[in-house]
Amino acid sequence: MDQFQKLTLLSENLDVEEGDSLINCSPKNKPQPTISYAKLPNGKSMPLLKSMITSVCENNCYYCAFRAGRDCQRASFTPDEMADTFTKLNNKNIAKGLFLSSGIAGSSVRIQDKIIDTAAILRKKLNYQGYMHLKIMPGAEFSQIENLMLYADRVSINLEAPNHERLSRLAPKKDFYDALYLRLSWAAQIRDNLMSFGSKRRKSPSITTQFVVGPSGESDYELLKTSVFLINTFRLARIYFMTFRPVLGTPLAETAPEDPLRGHRLYQSSFLMRDYGFHFEDFAFLPNGNLRLDRDPKQIWAEINLSESPLEINQASRSELLRIPGIGPKRVKLIIEYRQKNLIRTEEDLKKLGIPIEKSGKYLLLNGKRALRQLPLFAF
Ligand code: SF4
Repeated sequence: MDQFQKLTLLSENLDVEEGDSLINCSPKNKPQPTISYAKLPNGKSMPLLKSMITSVCENNCYYCAFRAGRDCQRASFTPDEMADTFTKLNNKNIAKGLFLSSGIAGSSVRIQDKIIDTAAILRKKLNYQGYMHLKIMPGAEFSQIENLMLYADRVSINLEAPNHERLSRLAPKKDFYDALYLRLSWAAQIRDNLMSFGSKRRKSPSITTQFVVGPSGESDYELLKTSVFLINTFRLARIYFMTFRPVLGTPLAETAPEDPLRGHRLYQSSFLMRDYGFHFEDFAFLPNGNLRLDRDPKQIWAEINLSESPLEINQASRSELLRIPGIGPKRVKLIIEYRQKNLIRTEEDLKKLGIPIEKSGKYLLLNGKRALRQLPLFAF
């Protein structure tokens, strides 16, 4: 099996963070490793090779295509092979960054060493300076995470569920507190040490985690409550919500897939907390603990809080403006700059600032007067 055939096997069922569009990138008549596009904070996207060191795994997570005992073809790379394969794709500009994870074959410590070795070869021997997102294995040692974080731009360890009880319904071999949560806390501690004592690397790595949404019966209330705690405690860069899709040959094969819109609403809520100053208490949950799917959470907040008392756009503070549907940090900046010299009076003025009146108008006063247009019935 050549390296591209292996890559195909190692990436085709990999449910991973960062970017959702998978494309085939192989040269003609070759097997097809998959590349996904990760969105960067500047809005551009970067082709990312997502792969595993090995798809052999001794764990039996109920949702996973690589679980032990599932009948599927498996493949493994040595660190040298992985570094070489990625470098070939990188030199051809097919992959500009690397996301590296793994199944657990042998032990977590053994596999973590392979990921560290791959990163070390790329950084030290091959002088690769680009983006690397590296996985922390459940049960990795403190010193291994320290080493990993010297090479990574981002590290992550997936909690998968919001608490121990929910995790036991998904991954009975994983210990929520010891194998996962403790390692996440170590990563935060190591990042803070790197920041305090200065590191030779350009920037200390960011940290993320991921939840599987749906099959443990968890509610959005539980997921967001845990998210707030993690973001505040460990300053996570973000949380990924992977909406569940059943995989043939797993114990959850007959379980219905989760509605992707649910994951979308969870992302919206977590970004509102991270970037817009929203608090957990600002969200309205249904009696089953989930968010409504028919409207976005910011819209719902505005309907409850601003319909009767719209904000004067010429006087509202930055944090108040961020509460208005259709207005994000970039538009707030434009509004504040514009207000220094002008009064915002008309729909035309809103247009100039790129503010969508059909979304924002109901919650605004333009120099004391209500903007006239009403919201459409459903705003997705
Ligand atoms: S540890 Fe669980 S999620 Fe990770 S590869 Fe193994 S079975 Fe899949």
